[in-house]
Amino acid sequence: MPEGQIIVTGASRGIGASIALELARRGYTVAGTSRNGDTAVGPGYALEVTDDAAIVRTIAAIAAKGPIIGLVNNAGIYETSPSAKLTSAVFEHTMRTNTTSVVAASREVYPHLKANGGGLIVNIGSFFDKLGVAEHAAYCASKAAIAAITRCHAVEWAADGIRVMNVAPGYIETDFNREFLSKDKVRSWLQKRIPARRPGTPEEVAKLVGALFSESIGFMTGETIYIDGGQGMNH
Ligand code: NAD
Repeated sequence: MPEGQIIVTGASRGIGASIALELARRGYTVAGTSRNGDTAVGPGYALEVTDDAAIVRTIAAIAAKGPIIGLVNNAGIYETSPSAKLTSAVFEHTMRTNTTSVVAASREVYPHLKANGGGLIVNIGSFFDKLGVAEHAAYCASKAAIAAITRCHAVEWAADGIRVMNVAPGYIETDFNREFLSKDKVRSWLQKRIPARRPGTPEEVAKLVGALFSESIGFMTGETIYIDGGQGMNH
């Protein structure tokens, strides 16, 4: 296992917390970030991902502690609006949080990974990247852009030994959607829609991300891996 830190954004709760715990369980050193600096694996770095200058500062501070071998761009938000009422401000806020932050963090981590002989960036996308979902134009666009950015970074940075993957979950029960998923109507609809007949768990997504780091499959890059119980491909 290469020595060094893996940065996980949004490591205080939900999928990010599970990823931080899973990577730590596998023996990796996790540099977690969250809005207030508390993370599932102990004190980390306070980082508001919409603040470009803060991303620059935080990644520099992590790099000063030792080599960086990976980055998991997990922090994200979910804003919905009927498209006829979707303001540019809301659209841009979603894009800034979910997408621009990935551009910035990946850009800032790139020279450190390169200097270290390579590494792995895992973006957390969504299976909504390929679906038409009413009232979700901003969120779907932000995640489709993640898949595109993943492919571009992958081909651009492959020669530096850097691989970039997009892990795209389906419905995963977290604070993000707990209220929505607890509704009886939604539960029974999802049981019919998801071939696996249930939402996923953050631990399942974390296991996939952990495996991508541990297995270190050098020929695999730029791909989107869906983890959605078969929902996105279900007829
Ligand atoms: P969550 O709301 O439980 O966690 C989101 C994390 O991102 C939190 O730690 C939050 O503090 C952080 N975050 C949000 N905005 C931030 C900001 N501006 N600055 C710093 N941190 C910020 O949600 P989750 O379900 O764990 O989502 C994690 C990722 O998984 C997101 O990118 C989300 O789009 C993606 N995802 C979730 C689901 C799902 O069903 N839960 C499905 C597909 C994709």
